Amino acid sequence: MFCPVGGGSGFVGRELTRLLKNKGHEVTVISRQPGPGKITWGELESDGLPPCEGAVNLAGENLMNPLRWWNESYKKDLFSSRIDSTKSLAQAIAASPNPPHSWVVVSGVACYKPSLTAEYTEESEWTPFDILSKLVKEWEGSALLPDNVTNTTKQVVIRAGAVLGRDGGAMKQMLLPFWLGLGGTLGSGRQPFPWIHVSDLAGLIAHALEPPADPPSPSQQVFNGVAPNLNTNLEFTKELGRVLRRPTIFPVPAFVMNTLMGSERAVVLMEGQKVIPKRTQEAGFQYKFPDLTSALKEIVGS
Ligand code: NDP
Repeated sequence: MFCPVGGGSGFVGRELTRLLKNKGHEVTVISRQPGPGKITWGELESDGLPPCEGAVNLAGENLMNPLRWWNESYKKDLFSSRIDSTKSLAQAIAASPNPPHSWVVVSGVACYKPSLTAEYTEESEWTPFDILSKLVKEWEGSALLPDNVTNTTKQVVIRAGAVLGRDGGAMKQMLLPFWLGLGGTLGSGRQPFPWIHVSDLAGLIAHALEPPADPPSPSQQVFNGVAPNLNTNLEFTKELGRVLRRPTIFPVPAFVMNTLMGSERAVVLMEGQKVIPKRTQEAGFQYKFPDLTSALKEIVGS
C-alpha cells in the first residue's frame, strides 16, 4: 500500500510511518517543508493526490505548545492548521481519478463534555460546548468526503485521548519534572485521564487503513482512540511516580495551570472524560498496551 500522511513528520506520524514501513507499505509525508520523501501542501494542491491506497491526516499546531500563549492568534492556528489541511486532503481525494480505499483523520476526545461520571462511547450524542469541542466539530466536518467518492473510499475518524510515548506529546514535557521528584496530581486528581500509547494509536490507524468491505459504509466511521482501562489523573500520577521510583507529592493547583496555559486549554488536563473504546474493541483491535503500568514501563524503560 502507498499512503500519504499529512503531518507525518510529527510524534504520531513518525510512529505510524515506522509501523507502515515495517508492514511493507510505502509512506510519503505531506508537510509545510519540502524534503526527500515528502510533498508539500502546495504541491498537493497544484499536482493533486499521488495514486495511493490510503491517506491519513495528522497535521495540526501542537495544542500543548509550551512556547505559545493562549491568545487569538494561537487559537486561529489551532483551527486553521487542522481544518485547512484536512480539507485539502479531502478535496484532493475527491478530485482523484483513483481515490484511495481508506481515508483516516485523527481528532480528539475533547468533543465529549468533561464529567466525573458520564461515560462516552463512539455512539454518544454530543454538541459543541467550548472552544475545543467546536474545533473537533469543524475538524471532523472538514474530513467529510463528497458523495462522488463515498462509495469507493472508507472515511474514518479516530478520536484520540492524550497520546503517551517518549518522543513527544504530554510525556515529553512531564518526564523531567517527574524525574526530579516535582511531579504531582493536577487539581483534585479525580478527573478522568483518557490516554493511549502512541504505538497503539499507530496500530489503530493502520487497522483503519485496511481495505473496507465492498462498497464501504458511506458515512464517517468513528473510533475512540483510548486505552480500554479507565484511569484518573491521580492514578496516572501515582503510577508514573511508581514506575520512575520518584515521589509525587506536589499537587498542582488549578489556578496555576489556568494561569500558565489559559483555562480554555488547561481543561484538557484539569478536567477529563471517561471515554470507552467500544467500537474500537468490537472491530477486533488488539491493544499492545491496554493498561497504564505496561504503557508507562515501556515508555520509561525505552
Ligand atoms: P505534532 O504536534 O507532532 O504535529 C504533527 C505535525 O503537524 C507536525 O509534524 C507538523 O508537520 C504539522 N504542523 C504543526 N504545526 C502546524 C501548523 N501551524 N500548520 C500546519 N501544520 C502544522 O502532532 P501529534 O503527532 O502529537 O498529533 C497528531 C494529530 O493527532 C494532531 O492533529 C493532534 O491534534 C491529534 N491529537 C494528538 C494528541 C496527542 O496527545 N499528541 C491527542 C489527541 C489528538 P510539518 O512541520 O511537517 O508541516
